[in-house]
Amino acid sequence: MIDLHRLGIRHVDLDMTNACNFQCRYCYHSNNLVGDPSQHILPEVKGKMEELIMRFKKNTSKDLNIAFFGGEPMVNFKGIVSMVERTGLRNWGMTSNLSLLREEMIPFFRENHGSVHCSIDGCQEAHDMYRVKAGGASTWNEVARGAMIALKINPNCTARATLMPNNIGLLYKSVIALKDLGFTKAALMTVNEETWTKAHWDIYEQELIKLVDFNVKNPGFYIKNFYDSIRGMNTPKTHNKQPKRCGAGFSMLAVSTNGNVWPCHRFTSTDNTKPWYLGNILEDKIDIAKLKEYQNSFVIPEKCKSCELISSCNMGCPNVSLNLGGLNEVSQAQCDYMERSSKVAKILMKRLSGTNNIYSKMMRGHRNQHRNRGRMKQRTNNKPRSQKVKNRIVKFNSIAGEFLSRNN
Ligand code: SF4
Ligand code: SF4
Repeated sequence: MIDLHRLGIRHVDLDMTNACNFQCRYCYHSNNLVGDPSQHILPEVKGKMEELIMRFKKNTSKDLNIAFFGGEPMVNFKGIVSMVERTGLRNWGMTSNLSLLREEMIPFFRENHGSVHCSIDGCQEAHDMYRVKAGGASTWNEVARGAMIALKINPNCTARATLMPNNIGLLYKSVIALKDLGFTKAALMTVNEETWTKAHWDIYEQELIKLVDFNVKNPGFYIKNFYDSIRGMNTPKTHNKQPKRCGAGFSMLAVSTNGNVWPCHRFTSTDNTKPWYLGNILEDKIDIAKLKEYQNSFVIPEKCKSCELISSCNMGCPNVSLNLGGLNEVSQAQCDYMERSSKVAKILMKRLSGTNNIYSKMMRGHRNQHRNRGRMKQRTNNKPRSQKVKNRIVKFNSIAGEFLSRNN
């Protein structure tokens, strides 16, 4: 029987459909079959997933975090509404191209604590280069209108822009466009790594330098590329720890429309012969030996062992590594991205020094979290428990024992 909590899983990426109303040029599984319900999650997989959500809640009194994926998850909005209502889920979100969001959906998101992670590539020129409909038609107007709705649902939602070598020179303009739309957070992610040259990274760096001025004028605007580097500079180096990369396959799994289980949404497929297939939820079991094998495969790559940037860098997406030849392969593009982002982040921190900006606020939160974790660890390691605490534990254990015997 699958017990996600016991496996350490706190987050599931769930494919609600393989269909999408866009045909982005960089999409890794574009399927322009919007009206085709055979592309949606199978009813029995949806039912099983609801059971797993309820099981997690029963075992932990907490909600499993669900990120609805696709294709475009809103193509199967009916399925999302049904799953949220049937499970009472309150910890969920979706990565969406925004085009199918409507004003009348806002109450559903608000009442059920749903959030939207917005796929939008910045200014219209940069966006329409890749995020298009079949035949190359522009999607900008629909997406900009959807962004307004996503921001009404959650004013702090993040705009996730995909950067390609051809639109990298529009990076600064894109952040301004995102701010004008009302966003206060942006994650500017580079993909298609093998096509990036030194000249492209030079442009990336120049654009980030322009963003330093922007960020000094707008100290409340969060840019993930800067924050990842800033946090790394303020975090102890982890050269001797086993890397968990982005968390895929450690605290997170993904489920495809036919119930196949994978480390994350970048791996999902209905074809179970693909690497790192981990079972199918319809059989109510995960291949634990395979999952452990996946987790134990990660080591610190040789070239990262002496790297100064190791605390900021998660060594990139494991699926990209896999395509490069193995889970521990890291692309040159990952190093270039980290090196350029960190270099400019240092300049930014000097310019922002002494001001109450978004990064120092977030760093204070991050440090407090670390300190509290450290204190808890110290307490469990060193300090003998007081009699009062011991009595509470005995009482808790007897109530829990009674509860378990009643429910088994
Ligand atoms: S919106 Fe997403 S799923 Fe659809 S084509 Fe674009 S990248 Fe692919
Ligand atoms: S920047 Fe490159 S060498 Fe350094 S930790 Fe990241 S992947 Fe490894």
